[in-house]
Amino acid sequence: MKTIWLQRLMKWTTAFQKFMRGRYGRFDQLNKTLFVLVLICLVLTPWLPFQLGRILAVIGLILLYGRFFSKKIYPRSNENQAYIRRVAKVKGFFTKRKQTISDKRTYVFFACPHCQQKMRAPRGKGRIRVTCSNCHEHFEQKV
Ligand SMILES: [Zn+2]
Repeated sequence: MKTIWLQRLMKWTTAFQKFMRGRYGRFDQLNKTLFVLVLICLVLTPWLPFQLGRILAVIGLILLYGRFFSKKIYPRSNENQAYIRRVAKVKGFFTKRKQTISDKRTYVFFACPHCQQKMRAPRGKGRIRVTCSNCHEHFEQKV
């Protein structure tokens, strides 16, 4: 009795392994995000008109399964890499903004009058002589 159950499980596992051979089969960053979006859509369903939450959730699941079982491994991997790059870009933008805001207390920001290159100098140093790193223009700046 016990061995039949085990044999069936092994047979099923082997069949699944055979099915998954040459398929993407990864729960990567993009799929994780899709999964979270599907869950958010399902949670928001009661407040969205025209069953929009369910429709979006079904579309998300189709995309998720499509990517997971896709036989085109490299295009799926490239999609994921592009997604990771985009997320990093957005995160970088916000981190930079946050950094600039905190830097405004200790630095003065100004632009080169010749080429508009953005620069910064420590606050409270008085009048300083600046050489632009981009166009090598000399000018004086009060900081
Ligand atoms: Zn310049």
